[in-house]
Amino acid sequence: MPDKILIANRGEIALRVLRACRAMGIKTVAVHSTVDRDLKHVRLADESVCIGGPPSAESYLNMPALISAAEVTDAVAIHPGYGFLAENADFAEQVESSGFVFIGPRPDTIRLMGDKVSAIRTMIEAGIPTVPGSDGPLGEDDRQCIEVARKIGYPVIIKAAAGGGGRGMRVVHTESNLLSAVAMTRTEAGSAFGSDTVYMEKYLEKPRHIEVQVMADTHGNAIHLADRDCSVQRRHQKVVEEAPAPGISTEVREKIGRLCVDACQAIGYRSLGTFEFLYENGEFYFIEMNTRVQVEHPVTEMVTGVDIVREQIRISAGEALSYGQSDIVVRGHAIECRINAEDPDTMLPCPGLVANYHAPGGPGIRMDSHLYSGYRVPPHYDSLVGKLVACGDSREEALARLDVALSETVIDGIKCNIPLQRDIINDAAFRQGGVDIHYLEKKLELA
Ligand code: ADP
Repeated sequence: MPDKILIANRGEIALRVLRACRAMGIKTVAVHSTVDRDLKHVRLADESVCIGGPPSAESYLNMPALISAAEVTDAVAIHPGYGFLAENADFAEQVESSGFVFIGPRPDTIRLMGDKVSAIRTMIEAGIPTVPGSDGPLGEDDRQCIEVARKIGYPVIIKAAAGGGGRGMRVVHTESNLLSAVAMTRTEAGSAFGSDTVYMEKYLEKPRHIEVQVMADTHGNAIHLADRDCSVQRRHQKVVEEAPAPGISTEVREKIGRLCVDACQAIGYRSLGTFEFLYENGEFYFIEMNTRVQVEHPVTEMVTGVDIVREQIRISAGEALSYGQSDIVVRGHAIECRINAEDPDTMLPCPGLVANYHAPGGPGIRMDSHLYSGYRVPPHYDSLVGKLVACGDSREEALARLDVALSETVIDGIKCNIPLQRDIINDAAFRQGGVDIHYLEKKLELA
C-alpha cells in the first residue's frame, strides 16, 4: 500500500478519501487554496500544503503546484476525487511521468472515455447498447446532418463530445431548427470545452438515468456493484440518487451488469468506473462512462457493504480486488440527498458562515459533509456541502429514515436545499419509485 497519499481535491470528497486513508493506515497530505485553510480534512490530514489562490485555476486545477506539493511531502500517490482534474488525462499522465501513482484509470483510458464520441464507439464494439445516433462526430456537410436526424427521427439532441456537468447539449424538435442548433452547440462547445466536436442522439422523451458501478484490477478481474437510479435531476445535474434502481428485476440487473463487466475486460479497464445509461421501455442505452469515484458512490456502499474508495486505493497499489462477483450481494435500499448551499427558491448558490451545524444520526444514517459550526462556505466552488444517505431493509424504511434525518439536520447561517429535498422524498410520484429525468423540473414548474 502507498505510505502517503496526496488528496488533490476539497470539501466532502477530500474528507471521504482522507477517512479511507486513515482507516488503511496511510498518511495523508491535504492541499488547499488560500480560502480553504479551515477545511475539515485540512485540519485532520497529517500534512497540508497551500497550493494557490481561491480561483480553481490557481489551486485545484494548478497541475505544477499539485505535483510540487507531492514532491515536497514525499507523497507516493495522488487521489483526484471527482471534478477538478479527476478526468483530465494530461494530469494523470503528468502524475505518472513525475513518478507518482495516479489513483484512477490509465491516462489513455481517461482520454478515450473523456471524448463521448470515442467512448460510444468503444462501447458499440464492446457490445454495450447505445442511444440511436450519429455514432460519430457530425461533419460540416449540412445535408448529411439532416439525413442523420431524419433517420434517427425527431426529437434529437446535439451534444458536445467533450461536454460534462450537464452542459453542452441542445434538444431539437423540428428540422427547421436543426442546423442553427448544431451551429450554436458547436460554438458553445468550442469556447466551453476547447473542442467544437458535436454528435447527435435520439432524444429519449421519458427515460430514467440508471448507472452501473464497476471496478477492475490490474490482474484482469472485474466486477459490478449493481446499479443506481439518478433520475431526479435539475438542469441535467443529479439531486437525489438511490441504489438499487427501483423496479428492475434481478435478471435485467444481472444482464446489464454482466455486459458492463465484459466491456471492462474488453477494453482492459482499471480502477473504478460508472457506465451511465438512459433506461426507457425496458431498454438500456449507454450515454457515457465516468472514470472516477462518483458523488453518489455512498448509496452503493450502503447496500453492498463495499468500501469503494478503499478498493480504489488498493487497485492503484496493484492489489487484486477483495471481492469476486458472487461476493457482491445487494441488501436493502439506500437513498442520497445532495445538500447544496443554495437558496431553496431561486436555487442560486448561498455561501457564508455556518453559525450552527448539527448532523443527523440514527440507524442507517450516514452524513458525508465537511461542515462544522463556525465554518465559512466560500463562494468560489461547487455548492455541494454534504450528502445525506439513509438505508433500510426496504425503500420505504430508507425513505422514512431519510425524512427524519432531513428534519433533524441543522445548518444555520446559510440557506440550503433541505426544504426541497423533503418535498421530493415526500412526493407521491417519487415515493412510488421510477420517476423519469424530467420529474423534478416538471414538479418545480408546477410549484
Ligand atoms: P454530462 O457528461 O454533461 O453529465 P450526459 O451525457 O451524462 O452529460 O447526460 C446528462 C443528462 O442529460 C442525462 O442524465 C439525461 O438527463 C440528459 N440526456 C443526455 N442524453 C440524452 C438523450 N439522448 N435523451 C434524453 N436525455 C438525455
